[in-house]
Amino acid sequence: MATTLPILTPGQQPPPPAPDRARSPGRLLDSHGRCIQDVRLSITDRCNFRCIYCMEPGDRFLPKMELLTLDEYTRLVSILLELGIRTLRITGGEPTLYPELDTLIERIGKLDLDDIAMTTNGSNLDLQRLEAWHSDGLRRITFSLDTLREERMRTITRSKTSVQDVLGATRLAREAGFPRPKVNAVIIRGINDDEVVDFAGLARDEDLDVRFIEFMPLDSSRAWNRDHVVDADEMLRNIQDQYELKSHENANPHSTSMNWTFADDAPGRIGMIAPVSRPFCGACNRLRITAEGRIRPCLFSHEEWDIRSMLRSGSSNEAVARAIVDMAWTKQAGHGIDQTDFVQPERTMSAIGG
Ligand code: SAM
Ligand code: SF4
Repeated sequence: MATTLPILTPGQQPPPPAPDRARSPGRLLDSHGRCIQDVRLSITDRCNFRCIYCMEPGDRFLPKMELLTLDEYTRLVSILLELGIRTLRITGGEPTLYPELDTLIERIGKLDLDDIAMTTNGSNLDLQRLEAWHSDGLRRITFSLDTLREERMRTITRSKTSVQDVLGATRLAREAGFPRPKVNAVIIRGINDDEVVDFAGLARDEDLDVRFIEFMPLDSSRAWNRDHVVDADEMLRNIQDQYELKSHENANPHSTSMNWTFADDAPGRIGMIAPVSRPFCGACNRLRITAEGRIRPCLFSHEEWDIRSMLRSGSSNEAVARAIVDMAWTKQAGHGIDQTDFVQPERTMSAIGG
């Protein structure tokens, strides 16, 4: 199904003004008492894969002029920093397809952020580029890889990139200075749930941080249903049948993953990201920005707010910051996937920025 965009056009109603108590200098607050300090910045909606749980072959991309420019991304991140944002993840679509990625990392790397990370499908990387990103301030890279079987890789990603290409990219990342790269694996019943233990073995063999992600209703095919979801508990039980694990405390209270190491002190880590079976909305400190400059307070928001028109119409940084405060205030309490009235958002993961 083609992604239908946009949801809001410039000129539609802005969010209602947030109350005075939302305007706390250097802090971005929502109406549920959460302080937002983390941003997911999507820099493109384009992708060279068509992962079955994300995009469909016929999905259309936005015209380039709709996407924010390099200067607009950089300006927006500087404003967010003033609002108290401390960490940023660059995503997409496939962020490595963004032609000005190197310059963007160079610019953002100069800002006073605690952490800059990126999520990629690992298809488009080389050592020289990785080294440059690392020296420019990119601190962490997460690779997406949902199978260790080459034939299945083609079926899942509908691309020519091989498992070995992506594993090779994780090794290059380590060589470039990124410590223990992360691997995200979306596990779907009947598709790759028979590989959970193999992925745990991969974490050990390659000293990787493998994160198992529950399948979320953000697929373009709209095929998601609860029966496709393999709960984190089930994945964990399967791994523990093979390997003894010990719980690994996460220093970040906002982390979305529950983590384990191997009891025999083998290298590697295991993480479970369980938004469906164990929602972590209460601790969520994130705001999402789409490639064309829409602020999405939640992955599952039905409301999103246009900031691009302000960036393009001469608004001051102060005015943009005030608008972002209003937008953040609207963040919903939770995603409600398990509620009977849950409605999948119009946008897919690739059009939001995962
Ligand atoms: N293209 C890059 C990649 O795949 O790593 C970055 C963008 S992708 C949308 C970000 C993450 O979202 C990936 O790890 C992907 O596996 C995950 N993702 C996409 N659709 C999902 C879904 N329906 N449920 C759970 N995770 C999903
Ligand atoms: Fe592309 Fe990433 Fe979506 Fe796969 S998950 S289709 S690589 S954006």
